[in-house]
Amino acid sequence: MNVIIIGGGVIGLSIAYKLIKLDINVTIFDKDRLGRGASWVAGGMIAPQAEGLEEGDFLNLCLESRDIFPQFIKEIESDTGLETGYWQCGILKLAFSEEEKEKIKKDIERFQELGLRAQWLEREDIEKEVKIGKEVLGGALYPDDAQVDNRKLVIALEEFVKRHAKVYEFEPVEEILTENGKFKAVKTKNYTLGGDVCVISAGAWSGKFNIPVFPVKGEMAAVDVEKQDINRVFYSSRAYLIPRKNYNRLVIGATQENVGFKDGNTVKGTLFLLKGLTDTIPHLKENNIQELWYGYRPATDDELPVLGEGNIKNLIYATGHHRNGILLAPITAEIISKYIYARKESKYFKVFSPLRFE
Ligand SMILES: Cc1cc2nc3c(=O)[nH]c(=O)nc-3n(C[C@H](O)[C@H](O)[C@H](O)COP(=O)(O)OP(=O)(O)OC[C@H]3O[C@@H](n4cnc5c(N)ncnc54)[C@H](O)[C@@H]3O)c2cc1C
Repeated sequence: MNVIIIGGGVIGLSIAYKLIKLDINVTIFDKDRLGRGASWVAGGMIAPQAEGLEEGDFLNLCLESRDIFPQFIKEIESDTGLETGYWQCGILKLAFSEEEKEKIKKDIERFQELGLRAQWLEREDIEKEVKIGKEVLGGALYPDDAQVDNRKLVIALEEFVKRHAKVYEFEPVEEILTENGKFKAVKTKNYTLGGDVCVISAGAWSGKFNIPVFPVKGEMAAVDVEKQDINRVFYSSRAYLIPRKNYNRLVIGATQENVGFKDGNTVKGTLFLLKGLTDTIPHLKENNIQELWYGYRPATDDELPVLGEGNIKNLIYATGHHRNGILLAPITAEIISKYIYARKESKYFKVFSPLRFE
């Protein structure tokens, strides 16, 4: 079987990785370098609880993916010899107001009712670990939320996929050709390539392929930090702070704006991130800035992903992962590859079907 994947971000690469391991021939087209879209830009949080997701299919999908993350990482690291910075460091979600405190405490209750670990920490408890900003009232500790260094993950996947698949970089797919209601081929400027199945995983650019996915811009920053000085992710409405495992980098995220593809880091975005940093851990204002960057989340109107086949047979969508595409890479790869390999329909295809937009 020949599978063509449009877009080699974390989603396309993870699907390719699983398909290759099932001995399926894979070809990937990317309009750019592999893995340099949203997947490069992200914070890498694996945070279904810190995101405060409501009970339902989306939370379940996210929790399933969080559960299989360690095994996914173990396989990739052993297949490539590369490490990915996966770290179950836990995420502390801070409250900066009474209203936020009340909401977070309600979240703790409902997560506990679902059997998930969650615990309220008073500000004094948090200060035993690190000195925090004076407005912080306390926070929820979610010990099972985690992080991965998304850039390292993408590099590992890229390394594996380039060894085992045919990869066309800087070769945008311009058109998808169909025949009798079935996928037939993809067309780029230089090639027309036929295949048995095509996966659309073109991230925030997936709107080109007849699906209402649009970009939501996010700006990010990183500062120096002493290695392991900060031992978990701090998440709040002001900013999230992600210390990387084993090296001196604290990632700060993120703004969220509906401005289309509008390139660049803005003054206002940078001020927001740095204020979020110093409101949370004030003494870090002395530290050097390492990098500013930005990118585009693949969003949909209902903020849910698009998974499975639509009206065209053998044309499969795996996109629209919005704020949680790193978290959702393992489960997406799992259910899409199983469908391609064994026509095994995931229960999630009904809920996240592309047909819901019709
Ligand atoms: C600022 C920010 C912070 C984030 N933080 C987190 C986080 O902490 N945790 C989390 O889980 N998620 C996070 N996300 C979301 C996550 O990054 C995305 O959901 C995820 O990376 C989407 O992966 P993807 O492979 O679908 O898209 P991308 O990584 O964007 O990949 C899509 C690929 O498709 C290619 N492409 C596009 N059009 C074409 C075409 N016509 N032909 C060929 N190739 C094409 C692009 O070049 C690109 O390489 C964040 C996102 C942003 C922007």
